[in-house]
Amino acid sequence: MRSRPQQPARRNAVLRREAVVAAVPVALAALLTAAGPATAAGTAGAPGAGDPYFPLSGNGGYDVRHYDLTLGYDPATRHLDGRAVVTARTTRPLTRFDLDLDGLKVTGVTVDHRRAAFHRTGQELVVTPRRPLRAGREFRVTVDYGGTPRPVTDPDGSPDGWIPTDDGAFVAGEPQGAMTWFPANGHPTDKASFDFTLTVPRGRTAVANGILLGQRSHHGRTTFRWRQSEPMAAYLATATVGTFRVERYTTRDGVEVYNAVDPREAAEAAPVLGKLPSVLDWESGLFGPYPFRAAGAVVDRAPRVGYALETQTRPLYDAAPDLGTLVHESAHQWFGDSVSLTRWQDIWLNEGFATYAEWLYTEQHGGRSARQAFEALYATPAGKDLWAFPPADPGGGEHIFETPVYARGAMALHKVRTAVGDRAFFRILRAWAGGHRHGHGTTAAFERLCERESGKDLSGVFRTWLHTGGKPASP
Ligand code: ZN
Repeated sequence: MRSRPQQPARRNAVLRREAVVAAVPVALAALLTAAGPATAAGTAGAPGAGDPYFPLSGNGGYDVRHYDLTLGYDPATRHLDGRAVVTARTTRPLTRFDLDLDGLKVTGVTVDHRRAAFHRTGQELVVTPRRPLRAGREFRVTVDYGGTPRPVTDPDGSPDGWIPTDDGAFVAGEPQGAMTWFPANGHPTDKASFDFTLTVPRGRTAVANGILLGQRSHHGRTTFRWRQSEPMAAYLATATVGTFRVERYTTRDGVEVYNAVDPREAAEAAPVLGKLPSVLDWESGLFGPYPFRAAGAVVDRAPRVGYALETQTRPLYDAAPDLGTLVHESAHQWFGDSVSLTRWQDIWLNEGFATYAEWLYTEQHGGRSARQAFEALYATPAGKDLWAFPPADPGGGEHIFETPVYARGAMALHKVRTAVGDRAFFRILRAWAGGHRHGHGTTAAFERLCERESGKDLSGVFRTWLHTGGKPASP
């Protein structure tokens, strides 16, 4: 949560670049759907998933089932060695297809164990198998690669991806950084299971998502094997490396907790991390069963990052979090991680919900009510950032982590709550998390659910609070 204030100069350069993209939506759409020369054997897979905010994120023509990533990282040289085995299924006949990979050097690609031709263009790794792939067929791509990973700078100016720290790397990928460290179908529409085999110098810890299968030291290096069995969007994957203190336990509900904490942050983090089981328990009571087998946290010291991320099962904190941030990233496990976005424009479904979870937590733990939080925000004068755009329409990738998405998104949920009453509202939250568990959602689907569960026409609420910019005339 909470991206830090932007640096205006950097931001302008980015806005100009985005403006060019925004000016050619038709051409762009054509580019993304036109799949290259068609032959009887098939067509080339599209270079993007068709998301106007991040046109080259993800790819067309296939669906990933599983990523098996074997990585070695040396913090001293910042060198990463990788082999990715991607198991996928074609959704149409393909003569070639793309994976997203930014930087790094690819040394070899195979498709179903045969050498395949490949080339790089921008963030696209274009793979041409020896023979075209039939529709609906499972195939396996192996990519060998290595080099010095570099984070991308997002349109909002934040670093995203493999971000070096003084003792390792803080590995966060929202919205587009997965491609800085593994070849990915980098859009949340495509979720897959993951295996990670991570080797680092002995004394360092490499933390990924899911369950720790094992750890073994040999010749001065330690290998950690992690498995994320529930489906995960590429941007929620991590392989964070550092000098960490590790704490492990199993909750009453049988969730395996693994916390990795930078010793410099440990004293400040301890009281907040100690509340993780009770926060997850409280959220399960409101949102329905916790969606994953594993949980935990990585508390790093990563001063240049400026944000925390809801990495699946194990949120990443750039410093010791406060309780509100822990509640926020934990709520994302339901809203954002289990229920994924279909397009980045709908980001309020992640951030508005996680912010509202913070309000609810405060309300139910002796603090100010959600209504008071709403009213305090409503007092913000017209013309301020809060009212800059409607939460369901940020207007571009450079705005997805701005105040209207978080705070106005939470306000919109509060308006739904007051319109339908508490019983229906909490039923809606559970139905949303349960009905789209390990799947996807859209703003339109959420609106339909609210009306179905409440039996009310909520079009006015949605129009005013989700789709119209400016400060609404009445609270
Ligand atoms: Zn968030």
